[in-house]
Amino acid sequence: MRKLTLASAILASTALTAPAFADGHLMIVEEPLELTIHMHWPRAQGYGVGGSPSEIYPVEMAAREMTGIHLVDQTAGRNTTDSGEAMNLLLAQGNMPDIVGGHLILQPVNEFGPQGAFVPLNDLVSEYAPNIQAFWDENPEILAAITAYDGNYYYIPYLPDGEFGRAWFIRQDWLDALGLEQPQNVDELYDVLVAFRDDDPNGNGVQDEIPYFARQWEEVNRLLTLWDARSSGSDTYHDFYVNDESQIVHPYAQVAYRDALANVAQWYEEGLIDPEIFTRGSSSRDYLLSENLGGMTHDWFASTSGYNAALAETVEGFNFIPFLPPASAAGVRMEEHRRIPVKPDGWAISYSNEHLVETIQYFDFWFTEEGRNLANFGVEGETWNMVDGEPVFTDAVLNSDRAVNSQMYDEGAQIQRGYFQDYRYEWQWTSQAAREGIELYSANDLLVPQFLGVSLNEEEQAVYDRYWPSLRTYMLERQQAWILGSGDVQEDWDDYVETLDEMGLEDVLEVMNAAYTRQNS
Ligand code: CA
Repeated sequence: MRKLTLASAILASTALTAPAFADGHLMIVEEPLELTIHMHWPRAQGYGVGGSPSEIYPVEMAAREMTGIHLVDQTAGRNTTDSGEAMNLLLAQGNMPDIVGGHLILQPVNEFGPQGAFVPLNDLVSEYAPNIQAFWDENPEILAAITAYDGNYYYIPYLPDGEFGRAWFIRQDWLDALGLEQPQNVDELYDVLVAFRDDDPNGNGVQDEIPYFARQWEEVNRLLTLWDARSSGSDTYHDFYVNDESQIVHPYAQVAYRDALANVAQWYEEGLIDPEIFTRGSSSRDYLLSENLGGMTHDWFASTSGYNAALAETVEGFNFIPFLPPASAAGVRMEEHRRIPVKPDGWAISYSNEHLVETIQYFDFWFTEEGRNLANFGVEGETWNMVDGEPVFTDAVLNSDRAVNSQMYDEGAQIQRGYFQDYRYEWQWTSQAAREGIELYSANDLLVPQFLGVSLNEEEQAVYDRYWPSLRTYMLERQQAWILGSGDVQEDWDDYVETLDEMGLEDVLEVMNAAYTRQNS
């Protein structure tokens, strides 16, 4: 049963009818209350612009005015970009901030929450957070997916909005220059990439083209789907997936993977894949497109489609557009990547927090209409305005040289607090070409079901922790070696499978499947 106190019921009904925040109806405390926060994620190691604690986000300033709650940075592990490492440091130092937020916190909060390091949120939310509770009431499967083995949940997640994320992009102007059609299957794709390599589509007289590139090296694995293998079951790279028999399996332990990876290695050897795919890093897309060198990638619809406008004047005829996933060897068109409805990122309340009610009310603020707009679009009147009931970014934001998401990160919007993303944030800066691409993808039934994860009990978690990290490392080491041509996946396969077995893969799968069965019972 959902139970509301009188105060929160009034708060909820007021939120529906009151005008903008000027009247203070979202105020949580009479006197300003400081709460400390750990916020560690790939874009910033700290709660402040660029991770700097002294550069307070405009969004934080607005939230202070609206709620009276002041977040003060207390992030551990500022000099590592590895959020898991930062979490370990935080837990080891003992002195926990009031709020623990950021990247990949699901696993640690579900492991250490039941042991007392984090506060269970079930009762606090049902009593004091009507907007969050309303989200759970509408999305019980998401709540089930983040619930720990003890039946409690310990964090408020970042909840992405929208369906499609990444797509296959190709230089249509290169195809046109060479008189080629968009490739419809893996064999045609091969021929196109060979032509990109050999036939000088950028017209400079030099064989300098990089046919397939990716700014995340893991996207080389996306090519596996062209031979009916998988690279991940979720939007986290290298994740498990649920097979046709409703069993959790790992993509890199399947026979289909062996055969698909042999093809990827072959393409790499032939120069169809960026020779620097593992090392070129996050600037690959910027560099290879602006230098007129890159032919095809797999990347986000919105940000990748922005290059046509950005490079219109510097690369003549530049036209980089989404195209349908080529049919696999077995004739399947699949877009493996999609937006997951819930991320393992967000924020939790630590055991040392002495203001539980205020904190959960503050978390709830971000699920009110005003809070959600602030979390998505930044400060009203600064980065966006309400136009006919729709939040619309200012021209300065939309026409900036910088990507809208990068601008938002500096505002303190779209960061990894617990909030519900609003797809209108992205649609506004999605180019017409990308919108057409999204519609093309929508019309073709390309998506596959996602693995939302399982909540392991203490014993299961111990098995997972004992075996999985080294298994994963071993899988990735072998994968990279095979792609680079060190060893042959076909010849090495039996030894590889035997090693996975010795390293405990079956034990890991056993505990995960036990948890999966329990979760679905
Ligand atoms: Ca060339």
